[in-house]
Order: sequence, then structure tokens, then C-alpha cells
Amino acid sequence: MTYNKENIFAKIIKGKADCVKILENDYILSFMDVMPQTPGHTLLIPKYDTEDIFNLPEEYFTFLMDAKKRIARAIKKAYEPTGVMIMQLNGKEAGQTVFHLHFHIIPRKDGLNYKFHSSDPVNFNELEKEAEKIKKWL
Ligand code: 5GP
Repeated sequence: MTYNKENIFAKIIKGKADCVKILENDYILSFMDVMPQTPGHTLLIPKYDTEDIFNLPEEYFTFLMDAKKRIARAIKKAYEPTGVMIMQLNGKEAGQTVFHLHFHIIPRKDGLNYKFHSSDPVNFNELEKEAEKIKKWL
């Protein structure tokens, strides 16, 4: 499959689609998932055109790993979950639905309703509130 430059995350990187940002530098962008599986569900993407992990240049991995750790730590502070899930799907058979490489960072704890993947859109005001809770701890 060839990378589609018009996918929604490519548009977000170029500023052609809106998102609620968490963290950004020259290599990565992190923003709130619009259909959060739990409150605080955050996405992290490289600023590089690739569908999956297999074609990503080495220099991006350090930035992604560092951002993952920072965001997971901030989520732990913000929501005090007992678990933090970091998930990344490669290919539609693995459940991938947006074909620009991305990592999900999701707070988990008993009693926190874990919704089905890509199921329930939330408005931007709600996402802004959750983003503020996380950004405070970055
Ligand atoms: P995948 O199934 O590819 O691992 O995950 C794609 C994720 O992107 C899903 O969790 C879905 O809710 C999220 N998503 C899909 N469209 C948008 C969008 O337009 N904006 C944001 N912020 N997230 C999106």
C-alpha cells in the first residue's frame, strides 16, 4: 500500500485539519484522540510520511520514545491510572484504521470505562479540558 498524503494525520501535521495538541517538535506531534477509549487517550505521530513502523528512519525513534515516556508520565500524574497502555497497530489486519504511523497512549484502571476502538467522538471543548490536565505535567 502506498502512503496516502491526504490521510487525516498528514493533514493535521500540515495544519489542514484541526487537533488538540499536547506536544510538538520538529520530529513528532502529539494530540488528543477524537474518539477516546478512556479520557486522556493521546496519540503520538512522527512528522514523517509512513504508514507503519517498518519504513521509519532511525533518528525518529529516539524522539518518539522520549515523547512516549513524557506523555505516559504526564498521564499517570493527571489521571492516577493503575495502568498506562501504549499501543501501535501495523496494517488493517492488525486493526489499523488511519494509515500514518501512530502510537496510542491510554490511561487504564478498573472502573474507567474502556470504550471500543474508534467508536465515540468527543467535542473539542471536552478534549481541550483533558489536554490541559496532561500538559500541566509534561
Ligand atoms: P488506529 O485504528 O489506526 O490504530 O487508530 C486511529 C485512531 O485515530 C483512532 O483511535 C481514532 O479514534 C483516531 N482518529 C481518527 N480520526 C481522527 C481525527 O480526525 N482526529 C483525531 N484526533 N483522532 C482521530
